Amino acid sequence: MSKVYLNGEYMALDQAKVSVLDRGFLFADGVYEVIPAYGGHLLRMEEHLQRLQNSLDAIRLQNPLKNQQWRDIIQSLLSDVENEVTGSDKSVYLQVTRGAAPIRNHGFPQQIKQTVFIMVNELGVVNKEDLRSGVSAITLDDIRWKACNIKSISLLGNILLRQQAHDNNAAEAILINQGMVTEGAASNVFAVINNVLVTAPIGPQLLPGITRDLIVELGAKNNIAVEEREYTEEELLSASEIWFSSSTKEILPVVELNGKPVANGRPGPMWEKMIDLYQANKENLRNGSAK
Ligand code: PLP
Repeated sequence: MSKVYLNGEYMALDQAKVSVLDRGFLFADGVYEVIPAYGGHLLRMEEHLQRLQNSLDAIRLQNPLKNQQWRDIIQSLLSDVENEVTGSDKSVYLQVTRGAAPIRNHGFPQQIKQTVFIMVNELGVVNKEDLRSGVSAITLDDIRWKACNIKSISLLGNILLRQQAHDNNAAEAILINQGMVTEGAASNVFAVINNVLVTAPIGPQLLPGITRDLIVELGAKNNIAVEEREYTEEELLSASEIWFSSSTKEILPVVELNGKPVANGRPGPMWEKMIDLYQANKENLRNGSAK
């Protein structure tokens, strides 16, 4: 069994234990990151570390490790799994909580020793043919809080929304906040409206996805018209293409929305182009020629 990292030590997953007084357990008082690794190369590591820092700053928690320490620990965990299962893609999960206090009390404890946990999981192969089948989605009222830009481990809103989508035979929910599209329950959302690729702007209403930013960047470099702007549920319902993006899903086309086909019920030409660009970038990373 491959090793995980907990508070300075490497150990088997079933040996990793935290206190029941840990504020992550009691209050979901912590943040996390998920970073894909292709051929041992981490996708956009700088951007992930910056987003981690932003999340920590937002919850007023000091970063327990220097960036180089994060890199070293993660590389060591990746080499460890690489010795067991070679060649497969991985995803790195890391979590920092405000640690265990002597008693349960909402206010921050005086002495803080953050809890740091990191594990590596198999990512599974994401290939274009599988993605092309697409998924069904439903629109739901965005019931979450006003700081969705923080990658908080408090995901109760997200899991209730995702489950509601599953209960309605949909893979994912598209969230609507006061008539405007925000994101998915665990993904960002793109829509092709009048041949322009549209996604909601960065702000407190959504997580600034690393995959989202990469798609916007790839669009700009490849003459695809991209707009980061607010857009309504009505615009979404009339879009010719809709996609979800995330580190683990890459770019997943939505072929059915609220029980009706999106356009002709198949992924559109903009997706065909963007997924090729995205996967080419991934292969460059695997060969060490992209970041
Ligand atoms: N939005 C939410 C709510 C998410 O949970 C995620 C990823 O899990 C994303 C967006 C996509 O972020 P990323 O592209 O960094 O994986």
